[in-house]
Amino acid sequence: MTHGTRHLRFNCTACGKCCREFRVPVTGADVTRLTAALSSSETISDWLEWLSPEQVDMTGEPETFVNLPEGRRLLVLRHNDGGCVLLDGSLCQVHPVRPRSCQLYPWDVTLGRRGGVKRLSMLHEYAPCEATSDGRVLPVVLAELKRWERAELANYVQVVSDWNRAQTRRKRLGKRLQGASEFVGQLVRGRVFVTEAATTSASDASTTSAC
Ligand code: SF4
Ligand code: SF4
Repeated sequence: MTHGTRHLRFNCTACGKCCREFRVPVTGADVTRLTAALSSSETISDWLEWLSPEQVDMTGEPETFVNLPEGRRLLVLRHNDGGCVLLDGSLCQVHPVRPRSCQLYPWDVTLGRRGGVKRLSMLHEYAPCEATSDGRVLPVVLAELKRWERAELANYVQVVSDWNRAQTRRKRLGKRLQGASEFVGQLVRGRVFVTEAATTSASDASTTSAC
């Protein structure tokens, strides 16, 4: 039995408030997908920035902090004054390839042993949100997105762990520590895996399109 099914009536009105409020951590798979959406005058670094542990609460995922010469840093989407750099008015410029955590937002999905949705709760209670309750979201889509997110995060954690171990080794050997651009370059060169379709999202499964 699924707990929290009332949340399936959620209907995002694409107000864009969550994109102004939250910082979005990205994985290697997110970087791979976003790179495909760059125009010829942009580089992926235009869309990314690094946060220190003091700037972000990642208590639940400390293993995504990357060791850089300046200290431990978390890779996130860049924020301008108005919020996420990829926000255009109230709409996402990269909607089909936006990060998995954006695709899953605002659902917090717990999967059961057979891979279906066991429990649903909502993260939008922590931010202003103009959603209505006349939507119809399919649990099967949420479950698939959650499985993809989990797989991509596990892969990224491994990439970060390999990187951090390599930097510790370099330090021991008195070698130069590699920097942020080298880490991102490694992600862009595709040394990560991406789960299949990037275009399905929880909101695509509702009765209206969403952020
Ligand atoms: S990538 Fe798109 S959906 Fe995600 S925070 Fe930025 S504008 Fe919003
Ligand atoms: S999830 Fe809520 S805050 Fe975010 S765009 Fe949709 S309605 Fe607005």
